[in-house]
Amino acid sequence: MAKDYYETLGVSKDASADDIKKAYRTLVKKYHPDLHPNDKAAAEKFKEINEANEVLSDEKKRKQYDFEREHPNMGGFGGAGAGGFSGASGFGGFEDIFGDIFGGFGGARSRAQTKTKGEDITLELTLSFLDAAKGCRREVVYSRNEPCSKCKGTGAKNGTAYKTCEKCGGTGQVQYTSGNGFFRSVSVRPCEECHGTGKKIIEPCEECKGKGYVKKSTKLVFDIPAGADNGSYISKAGYGEASKNGGPAGDLFVVIKVEPSKIFRRKNFDLYVDLPISIKTAALGGKVKVPLLDETMDYAIPEGTQNGKIFFVKGKGIKTNRGTGDLYISVSVEVPTKLSSRQKKMLEDFDTDSDFKQTPKMKEFKEKMESMYGRNPYGK
Ligand SMILES: [Zn+2]
Ligand SMILES: [Zn+2]
Repeated sequence: MAKDYYETLGVSKDASADDIKKAYRTLVKKYHPDLHPNDKAAAEKFKEINEANEVLSDEKKRKQYDFEREHPNMGGFGGAGAGGFSGASGFGGFEDIFGDIFGGFGGARSRAQTKTKGEDITLELTLSFLDAAKGCRREVVYSRNEPCSKCKGTGAKNGTAYKTCEKCGGTGQVQYTSGNGFFRSVSVRPCEECHGTGKKIIEPCEECKGKGYVKKSTKLVFDIPAGADNGSYISKAGYGEASKNGGPAGDLFVVIKVEPSKIFRRKNFDLYVDLPISIKTAALGGKVKVPLLDETMDYAIPEGTQNGKIFFVKGKGIKTNRGTGDLYISVSVEVPTKLSSRQKKMLEDFDTDSDFKQTPKMKEFKEKMESMYGRNPYGK
């Protein structure tokens, strides 16, 4: 995902569909091969612009592209029917817009979209840290416009009572002309009166009042695979809003949000745990209990373990069907704060007995100061 399509079109990440269309048109006019014959750089730029537009102008492709850009290591769950974004291909976007801007050269576009897809729905699903790591089954209930079953989404009573739309004469299309001079544009758009169907309802369906869809509660069960992370998503085609004119329904996106854990942090499938140990265990070594997702594990801390030391345990992270993560144990040595006078005496003796007053790191630090000041930092 090296290419920044927003940068290619010179728009911001939250640019509206209109902004993108405008930016695309401006750039296509500027770099069109007809205006730059034998210019390889312009041709390459033209190709990039089209590739970017093909993704950003398609609401679903753009959504997937955004998701994967924000979560480069996550993406969708292949197994759950989502599939990651796989990059743009071909010049589809160009074909669609050619007639609009180069009406004078290429002729007006004759094919108009008469049926539009319904809106996508995005839901957020919050999971506990453990449920997300181990996988779980979740029921999702949401409300959406479903195609009306009584009129089969037509909006007409008994599905038959239509008359021809007067505005478009039944073609479902209306021709618009705009612009001037060189870039005169002729385009064909769906008729607003009949939403591109060419037909108007005489007697509306009683169930949906002629809309062709009804608001209904929808219940879906999802098996969330182990390893789901913030921004992971599952999509289900056709479970978005119903189309407003008999086209296919939009898609449903369920975006996962993971609650933090009190014990673990995670990075992809790796687990990180901050483990407090006593000063005695740090100095002499010893067995400690380390938490895993399901149970605890015995771990032998070696003698002379320093504060902040990180131990790596392979394969003890999150187990998923896309690989298994590792466990990182970060040790923090806890210095005792409530010492008895006997314990204090023992530490005093320890200090006197040993060369503890000048530990290797303290010696090294003193030498660094000496070289910085050019003299003994303690004045002797
Ligand atoms: Zn019409
Ligand atoms: Zn109906």
